[in-house]
Amino acid sequence: MVFEYILKRYFDRVYTEADFVKRTSEALSKLGFNADNSIASVCICRDEISQAMPALIDVWGEAFNLSSLAGMFFAGQTGLAAAMHHSPIADGKERYVFYAVPHIAIDAEGHLGACKRTGRKEESTACGALNAFQKELSQGKLNLSMDEIDIEQSLLKRRLLREIPYGHVPDLLELTKITQKVVQKDIEYALNTIVDRRKSDYAVISGIQIHGPERNYVWVVSCYAVVNEVMEKIVFSE
Ligand SMILES: [Zn+2]
Repeated sequence: MVFEYILKRYFDRVYTEADFVKRTSEALSKLGFNADNSIASVCICRDEISQAMPALIDVWGEAFNLSSLAGMFFAGQTGLAAAMHHSPIADGKERYVFYAVPHIAIDAEGHLGACKRTGRKEESTACGALNAFQKELSQGKLNLSMDEIDIEQSLLKRRLLREIPYGHVPDLLELTKITQKVVQKDIEYALNTIVDRRKSDYAVISGIQIHGPERNYVWVVSCYAVVNEVMEKIVFSE
């Protein structure tokens, strides 16, 4: 199937979404995180086809929502601090699990960014916000004004542009991979300014959610926990 060929070509190792969440929660339980002593937060796109992930992340209980268009992290220190202050306190410790997973679609013919939506005949795009930005870049008509009736998209363009070499026009795949790095970096940066590692353990799990014709997958880019002030890389068991 063309889809599987393209999936493998661009994403070396993927898990179904359900397997991804199961593996992360199993790995984290060995490091002392569980639904009773931890709070999960999600940073994903607003797109309805992305929402299967927070539903699965419910294994951690109801998750704090840090999401913006494209899964950008614009909740900032205030949003992050709120999530952290809502954590249970168990054995004198707070525990946070952050899932940061922007997205892209691949249709049955292997077209990157293309997907079908219920009740619509024409092909749709995911991520639509990244695709709109990519179109502006490729057409040389980039609008960087801070549009008050389009705040998130304005912020998205300004933030991502900082990570793109001047004059370079990434395609949607490259732009999605840039977005993943940015979202992870921005959460880590904000986290570093407010977290107290003496009383908090946390995990940062980041990758790309891929919408296939049949189901969603996750390409894992970074997965680690900080426990008792020591970073532990999380490796999934086979
Ligand atoms: Zn999106």
